[in-house]
Amino acid sequence: MRGLLVLTALFVAVFGKLTFEGDQVLRITAQNAEQIALLKELPEEILGLDFWMPPSRVSLPVDVHVPFHSLQGVRAFLAYHQIPYYVMIENVQALLDDEEREMVKYRSFPRSTDDFVYTTYHDLNSVNSFMDMLVAENSNLVSKIEIGKSYEGRSLDVLKFSTGANRPGIWIDTGIHSREWITTATAIWSAKKIVTDYGRDPVLTDILNNYDIFLEIIANPDGFVYTHSNDRMWRKTRKPNPGSSCVGVDPNRNWEVGFGGPGASSNPCSQTYHGPSVHSEPEVKAIVDFVTSHGKLKAFLSIHSYSQMLLYPYGYTRTPAKDQAELHELARKAISELQSLHNTAYTYGSVITTIYQADGITVDWTYEQGIKYSYTFELRDTGRYGFLLPADQILPTAEETWLALMIIMEHTKNNPY
Ligand SMILES: [Zn+2]
Repeated sequence: MRGLLVLTALFVAVFGKLTFEGDQVLRITAQNAEQIALLKELPEEILGLDFWMPPSRVSLPVDVHVPFHSLQGVRAFLAYHQIPYYVMIENVQALLDDEEREMVKYRSFPRSTDDFVYTTYHDLNSVNSFMDMLVAENSNLVSKIEIGKSYEGRSLDVLKFSTGANRPGIWIDTGIHSREWITTATAIWSAKKIVTDYGRDPVLTDILNNYDIFLEIIANPDGFVYTHSNDRMWRKTRKPNPGSSCVGVDPNRNWEVGFGGPGASSNPCSQTYHGPSVHSEPEVKAIVDFVTSHGKLKAFLSIHSYSQMLLYPYGYTRTPAKDQAELHELARKAISELQSLHNTAYTYGSVITTIYQADGITVDWTYEQGIKYSYTFELRDTGRYGFLLPADQILPTAEETWLALMIIMEHTKNNPY
């Protein structure tokens, strides 16, 4: 019986997972607005396309994951319209196999956060045990609070770093788009960094003596589990959509500000589906409730990948944010500090001017809640590996990102409002 169970588990593990053998990621560089328009007309659903970077403007490349069975058609289309492209990822499955091999190699059961392997990707159980160990080891500084439950009933846990009562707060979330694994790996390393540096690094110590830091490492746990069990490329939540066979909502298009605008999709099958109503996703609503009930968050940093960008509001309107000058200058400072470590170049600006119109996004909502220092990071890389960033880049990514986070947190501390 036990043998049968093991076999069944193995079967699901092996065959329940989507494979991407022969799939490619193409980088398309449209030469003009007509070519952008043509790319927008590609029948995504029929061809099974997944735009990692959707067509938006000529200056930005378009990255698209093309299933093996659609490759010939897409290539013919691009050739016919003379739209330049190259193959960025030759075989998606080969990268996934590398990633899986690497995870298996470093699979371990650490007894403390000192033994934890920060240089590999982890599943939900492993991240949960990391959080519990961190809290147990640093109970004077760290606690875990549950801000709600996911659609599938998982805890939405937030680490709270605090040295005193009634402090204003700084919020950081990662993994709201579940396939962006590098963001979660960066957060795990950062959590350990905070407990290590408190009392040693004078700047961080000063920040924590005046502000609480809230860190939600896995903002979309249902999606995260699904990326491990079924589909590594899953982005959205896992709530079914009535009347559609497509599952999930884009949790970064589900927020009240600009909800339902053209920078989101009303199609439940789209990667940017805004959902049936404002804050319909429990993962979003939990943050909304936390932010409003806390009432004293002064910085809100929502971390995504990829593209190497540091972005501030707005995404839904071209009207500049009233603090644009300060947000812009602070972003410049943060990315130049980030670049100083490994020479990783970032671009920066408002969401709508730097990438594209995006409606119903997190930071537009938090900014309009009065949280001035609202930023979105897009971590490494610029597309060579996209969402499948090799684990040997976790450490350098976390280290450099930390420098930018520190600049923003320090500025927040020095400029109370
Ligand atoms: Zn994202």
